[in-house]
Amino acid sequence: MTYDVIQCIEQGKGEICMTLPKLRYRMMEPPGGWIYRDLDTNMWITSHRNLDDLIHQCKAHRHANELPIPEDFAERIEASIAYSVPPELAIDMPEDRKLSDQMLSLFHVNKKTNQFLLDWRLKGGMQKVPQEEADARAMTCVKCKYNSKIICLTCKGIDQWINGWTGRKTKHDAALGICACDGIVLFATIHSTQKTIGEFPDECWKKNKI
Ligand code: SF4
Repeated sequence: MTYDVIQCIEQGKGEICMTLPKLRYRMMEPPGGWIYRDLDTNMWITSHRNLDDLIHQCKAHRHANELPIPEDFAERIEASIAYSVPPELAIDMPEDRKLSDQMLSLFHVNKKTNQFLLDWRLKGGMQKVPQEEADARAMTCVKCKYNSKIICLTCKGIDQWINGWTGRKTKHDAALGICACDGIVLFATIHSTQKTIGEFPDECWKKNKI
């Protein structure tokens, strides 16, 4: 399993969440290990010891690269992992998160997207819509309020992972995130003929999907 980082805890830029979640068992190594990606240098930093060692390494890495170290950097690192583990292993998830946002925890997104890709392959034969239709879908999503960008898809390569399945992109990819209505990464669904389950707004292309 890989870890990914929530965009709202991106280092030194982007939105910062008011509440940062924590690991319920701080001394217990989470599934996948102690790992963090520095978004400025694009480097993965791992520790084989514990969270404090990981934080120490991450700070040293930024220091060596002459990058600023945010005051709450340690909390951000812990939060990035907390967002990535199964919900029962995290505490203090933001209370003001909407229900639809809760389903966007990385764990669920990975799970749902993976299932979608498998269904697409096994039941749908990986059939794709024409590129023009994928572009049009992407454009609709870019303008949609349910296009959620709270999770950084480039962290740990979710975008590359899905591109490995679709083999295609659109010019709107940089503005695409996760559909909050079905919890699946949009890079996958915009190219696919496979249906997903969710409550979609009238203007959504999924609403009219055959
Ligand atoms: S609801 Fe529809 S249009 Fe909106 S982000 Fe999801 S798939 Fe795109």
